[in-house]
Amino acid sequence: MTFKAVRADKTEAGQEVRFVEMDESELMDGDVTVRVTHSTVNYKDGLALSGKSAIIRRFPMVLGIDLAGEVETSGHSGFSPGDEVILNGYGLSETHFGGYAEKARVKGDWLVKLPEGLTRAEAMAIGTAGYTAMLAVMAIERHGLTPASGPALVTGAAGGVGSTAISLLADKGWKVIASTGRASEADYLKGLGAAEIIERATLAAPGKPLGKEQWAAAVDSVGSTTLANVLAQTRYGGAVAACGLAGGMDLPTTVAPFILRGVSLLGIDSVNCPMPVRLEAWRRLAAGLDPRKLAAMTQTIPFDEVFEAGRRILRGETRGRLVVTIG
Ligand code: NDP
Repeated sequence: MTFKAVRADKTEAGQEVRFVEMDESELMDGDVTVRVTHSTVNYKDGLALSGKSAIIRRFPMVLGIDLAGEVETSGHSGFSPGDEVILNGYGLSETHFGGYAEKARVKGDWLVKLPEGLTRAEAMAIGTAGYTAMLAVMAIERHGLTPASGPALVTGAAGGVGSTAISLLADKGWKVIASTGRASEADYLKGLGAAEIIERATLAAPGKPLGKEQWAAAVDSVGSTTLANVLAQTRYGGAVAACGLAGGMDLPTTVAPFILRGVSLLGIDSVNCPMPVRLEAWRRLAAGLDPRKLAAMTQTIPFDEVFEAGRRILRGETRGRLVVTIG
């Protein structure tokens, strides 16, 4: 029995990424085989699908950094056939075959049982982007910040990490300031809980080492000059959770926000996040993310449309989250 997959192969010209038919003998080692039913399109998937990025670290590689499905066979004591599972990161689409295939063989140690209260489709609507947003919120809380500390800024607001972060922060009582390059999405962002919208351009141009103190916390998926400006305008003792690089990988900042205002830069990594933190993030997402807001930020696409979706996410044209139905 063959199954459909999106695979990247190394060619003389670089990489070729396309739909192929594979069989189980081609799957990588692992102690659990999963019938994949859903995946997602994250920014990183867009990069990998483009066939031009360095995301993929070995070839051939099946793409897709997220998957949800049902266990078919298991040699892992924690999982049995029929269990519903999700998997985010752990090198999927980089060093291990990922979720853009009707079957996956993975390490059981990487799997999370589908959290109670979520369907597989909802778990993928959250996906890596939403789970990363929760990791950022948890990091801000661990820093001791609360809604009483002041407003929270979210950059890349209409994207996957941004939309989820707005929803989570607003529902926890934060006053959320959303930074977006798409004024047309203002009503959408307010619907998720944003109290104020600011234009992306106000943070994009090089600014001063320190600006007017504005927000106590921030979730940033943009990086580069934007992150430098976010740090420069963070209130005394505040913290910025850095998640992404949609605007660039550099960080042209100074030490001024750190040494003159005690601002902290909190690094967020979803891929190798330890299992206990991962489980806590998923528990809180299942219990605390408003399902109506999740539905409002989610679009579902068939497997055949992942390449087009990948191009759109890199152009910044997608809103919220994209779920891909696989099996
Ligand atoms: P999306 O594409 O859904 O969201 C990114 C958003 O950033 C866009 O919607 C847009 O928001 C804004 N944006 C896009 N291009 C630019 C630009 N050139 N300058 C400024 N803003 C821009 O991606 P995701 O939410 O899936 O991911 C966001 C970032 O977080 C990515 O860089 C991704 O790689 C990273 N990431 C990191 C993870 C980690 O483990 N650290 C995990 C998940 C994601 P708007 O139109 O509202 O301005």
